[in-house]
Amino acid sequence: MVVELISVGTELLLGNIVNTNAQFLAEKCASLGLSMYHQVTVGDNRERLAEDINTALQRADIIILTGGLGPTEDDITKEVCAEVMGFKLVEDPHTRERIETYFKDGIYPVITENNWKQALIPEGCKVLDNHNGTAPGLILEKAGKAAILLPGPFNELKPLFLDAVSPYLQELQPEVIRSQMIKICGHGESQVADQIKDLIAAQTNPTIAPYAKTAEVHLRVTARAADDETAKSLIKPVVKEIKNRFGDDIYTTKEEETLEMAVVRLLKKYELTVTTAESCTGGLIAGRLVNVSGASEVFREGFVTYSNKAKRKILDVSKGTLKKYGAVSEQTAKEMATGGVFATDADVCIAVTGIAGPSTEGDKPVGLVYIACYMKDKVKVEEYHFKGNRDKIREQAVVKSLDLLRR
Ligand code: ATP
Ligand code: MG
Repeated sequence: MVVELISVGTELLLGNIVNTNAQFLAEKCASLGLSMYHQVTVGDNRERLAEDINTALQRADIIILTGGLGPTEDDITKEVCAEVMGFKLVEDPHTRERIETYFKDGIYPVITENNWKQALIPEGCKVLDNHNGTAPGLILEKAGKAAILLPGPFNELKPLFLDAVSPYLQELQPEVIRSQMIKICGHGESQVADQIKDLIAAQTNPTIAPYAKTAEVHLRVTARAADDETAKSLIKPVVKEIKNRFGDDIYTTKEEETLEMAVVRLLKKYELTVTTAESCTGGLIAGRLVNVSGASEVFREGFVTYSNKAKRKILDVSKGTLKKYGAVSEQTAKEMATGGVFATDADVCIAVTGIAGPSTEGDKPVGLVYIACYMKDKVKVEEYHFKGNRDKIREQAVVKSLDLLRR
């Protein structure tokens, strides 16, 4: 079953409002197992809207239109759709009564002539009662195709969709789509794809879709089935196989869990507190940790020690180390991590020092970053050569630091 979405409104084309209805509707349609190949946005213009409705009806089984159902002159969706599909507009007594009641109970006691326009409906169509506005949702069915018309305001569209449209679509399309997320740190996208190329080549149902993020790869395993249970049983063995291949590099299989959330979860689990000693990342790691609600249980303070003087004064990095090896060195990173723990009462310290560019430091290249982690009297240091601009290098350093903290 193919569905196409037409968002109507000149304000969308001008960028005055963001098309959040499209995001909501697309996501809902996908989870109902409907295929969506096209989304169209068109202004409040009769000819162009008619053209788009015609095209959509050729490409899809169901078209969903949002916006332009209101009482004003520029609200033309219903008229145009009825005309294209060959429906006559007739007054619906039930809708007329609802409009009367809506105004009687509402804050605007005066019904204008325009409002009665909303009581006109395409003859024989399904009327979906709108409890939050005057324009009802409408479903026009003809020749095996359906057009679903929904008002633009989200507080009207959402309940109409969930209460009336979703059950309607479910009946037409009894399949469900379920997916499981797997988030991996420590591999590039091509590396991940290479490690599961046999699974990707063999995929039909479920399918595996990789998404590259900065220093992370997310895999979405998606199955289509008659019901939830079957979909889950299709996903399970594939997820298990991916887990076998990536092991500890997977930091979560929860859709909503970010890397910093996973870090905070683990620190809480092992009852450890953490501090940060940051140079080139300038507080970004601390910022990511504090993003997580409940981070205060594991994170109390952190340091931004950008200059050598700050590294010496706050973290007690020795003058000799800085002189001999430089600020961007394995030795400095180690002393920063150790110093962080001693300057606080934290159990763990993650320290970062590197060259984010664009200018280099002596003979050390841009992108050279050392990340050290102090835990239980041991310091682990990793050396990285990140590519990209200053922002990209710092972002990669943050992700790798959080990942090191997690391990
Ligand atoms: P109304 O009865 O309020 O006129 P309507 O169905 O005619 O409703 P529009 O006039 O097209 O809808 O839009 C009304 C408001 O709904 C817009 O100003 C905007 O706030 C919101 N809206 C419309 N379309 C969208 C969309 N695609 N995404 C997000 N918001 C939208
Ligand atoms: Mg309107």
